[in-house]
Amino acid sequence: MRYYSTRSRSESVDFRTAVLDGLASDGGLYVPQEIPQYKETVKSSLGSMNFCDIAFETINPYVKDAIPDFVLEEIVHSSYPFYAPLVPVGSRLVLELFHGPTAAFKDFGARFMARAFSWLRRNEEKPLHILVATSGDTGGAVADGFFDVHGIYVTVLYPKGRVTPLQEKQIAGLGKNIRALAVEGSFDDCQRLAKTALADEELKKRMQLSSANSINIARLIPQAVYYAAAAGKAFAGIVDPDGEVTPRLNKNTVTAAGSGTPVTFCVPSGNFGNLTAGLYAMRMGAPVKQFIAATNINKTVPDYLATGEYKARVSEATISNAMDVGAPSNFERMTAHLSYKDMRSVILGVSVSDDETRKTIERVFSETGYYFDPHSAVGWKGVDKLIAEDKIDGKQVGILSTAHPFKFSEVVEPLVGAVPVPSSLSLAMERTVNAQAIPAEYEALLEYL
Ligand SMILES: *Cc1c(COP(=O)(O)O)cnc(C)c1O
Repeated sequence: MRYYSTRSRSESVDFRTAVLDGLASDGGLYVPQEIPQYKETVKSSLGSMNFCDIAFETINPYVKDAIPDFVLEEIVHSSYPFYAPLVPVGSRLVLELFHGPTAAFKDFGARFMARAFSWLRRNEEKPLHILVATSGDTGGAVADGFFDVHGIYVTVLYPKGRVTPLQEKQIAGLGKNIRALAVEGSFDDCQRLAKTALADEELKKRMQLSSANSINIARLIPQAVYYAAAAGKAFAGIVDPDGEVTPRLNKNTVTAAGSGTPVTFCVPSGNFGNLTAGLYAMRMGAPVKQFIAATNINKTVPDYLATGEYKARVSEATISNAMDVGAPSNFERMTAHLSYKDMRSVILGVSVSDDETRKTIERVFSETGYYFDPHSAVGWKGVDKLIAEDKIDGKQVGILSTAHPFKFSEVVEPLVGAVPVPSSLSLAMERTVNAQAIPAEYEALLEYL
């Protein structure tokens, strides 16, 4: 498979280059030259295959030239000792993406990316230094994904005092090859410092530098896996047992939704990497009817879908802060694959306020006993709104739950009381933070590096 930049189709690169470079030299994002198709035998058995087998079948055509089959087998098994249960909640399905070590869906991409990096660089002698700026969730998933990976050092820059205590422990509690820098400034400062370093030719002569943010194609492709697995299950009328970390009242009104019906996925979105991965799964042949792009008040993409005009803006702070994005970077990938007309036919946009989000967390809990984190609640409410506007019929809808509710307990607990703690997070809570504080100045970062 060749990859080309979203900004020019003239030059293409192989998987290795696309992953290790991250961003194309013209500033565009790498996209695959074509979307491969699932074999018929795979397509018809997605509902009953195990997660790692679907992961292998999904990722293999994208990486074949760079990662041999037996290595990919090993990589998917070590990346995914957990899976993504599809559980019924009320009359809908919820795809729980929070069973990985940092309890947010970013584990799926980060863990694969770390192992892919390690294989692709297996013959390099110099260590690689990865710089990542985070507002919270990404840093934890990347740190965890790369923890103890040979030959790679990760430095996470996060805004001091502006991440939750749990997130800080996930970022700065691991040690070994993971280093944490608490920057005295904002997330934008962190991002600026990381970008400056990555563009510093003098520094790059001294050390091999790379980034691990969500524009990397190696984080995107593995996210198609859980869409295919869940679409297959929904189509076959199969649901998973209740997620073990979110006990509920036993009030489900749906067990096996309508079998033989393709699912509509509602994706709580910020940078739109997750939704883009869903488009890949659909194009590969997974039985998906359409997508709902649910955002908080940062509704650049829903506005685009409504008007045809793309207006990036400065993001506004909300309680679903991992989706506070005014200029979603993966939008460029969506337009590389779909015209405006096609995009409107497969994606419905909707935006949800903080007030609506809080009320939804309360209401879903009182009706079903299910705990939603604020991001996933945006998805649930988005579906409510589209049903009320007669834009969807509400049958066979699957909402992606992007984070465990305990991760956002500051928001969730005042609304519904104590949230059950998953074992991965209780372990993380015991870690001690070991971060170095630096002023938000490039000289300080340079000195540290
Ligand atoms: C990152 C994140 C999102 C947004 O995903 P995108 O791929 O950026 O659209 C939503 N919810 C949670 C919990 C996240 O961490």
